Amino acid sequence: MVIVLFGKPGAGKGTQAPRLAAALGVPILATGEALRAALRAGTPMGLAAKAFMDRGDLVADDVILGIIKEALAQPAYTNGAILDGVVRTVPQAQGLEVVLGDLDRSVGAVLAFDLPDDEIISRISGRLTCDKCSAPFTGRTPGESCDTIGCVSGLGGGVLVRRKDDEPEAVKTRLDAYRKSTEPVLAWYQRNGTRIATIDAVGAIDDITARARLALGL
Ligand code: AMP
Repeated sequence: MVIVLFGKPGAGKGTQAPRLAAALGVPILATGEALRAALRAGTPMGLAAKAFMDRGDLVADDVILGIIKEALAQPAYTNGAILDGVVRTVPQAQGLEVVLGDLDRSVGAVLAFDLPDDEIISRISGRLTCDKCSAPFTGRTPGESCDTIGCVSGLGGGVLVRRKDDEPEAVKTRLDAYRKSTEPVLAWYQRNGTRIATIDAVGAIDDITARARLALGL
């Protein structure tokens, strides 16, 4: 089953993705992480995306669709995927539909994580991420080792840092981009007849996972 995790930056998609992926037994595809990995590897795509990402602007649709197309053709994704932050514009939703259609698949459901802007801003201001695996953490200190608290990348040596795009100015840009370009995606899926489940994303992480699992019948 292909599940689209949808919501504002900081809504908890990155926290819930591994939990739902484990429950469904499918891998995660996260375009933000793919771009950060490309940047760490110094590829032309990663280097070209850096300025957009640092500012909190969206990366071009053709770059994102290239990542989606290449990833979903891999055997690892045959049984489905959790798409985390992958669909952020209507052209991306349309492109994903074509990519999945070519593979004889479709989006099974959109989980829309819902929470107000003030909650987003307070969450992101306390968020640190592993510089290796991008796992998000709150209540930690910059410089702490991700290994000691379970670096999910298996790469080892991860250190907790503040993402550049988690600085207040970039968060404002990301929320503006969400309202302008991403929010309309939900209406597109509605028109398309795709199942949309709205998840109240305020509260404890376990409670939100339970709501998401319920919505997916897990
Ligand atoms: P994320 O890790 O999902 O918060 O993504 C970090 C940044 O990567 C975003 O602020 C964008 O600059 C870029 N990005 C990730 N996914 C997309 C996407 N589907 N469309 C456009 N830009 C993206």
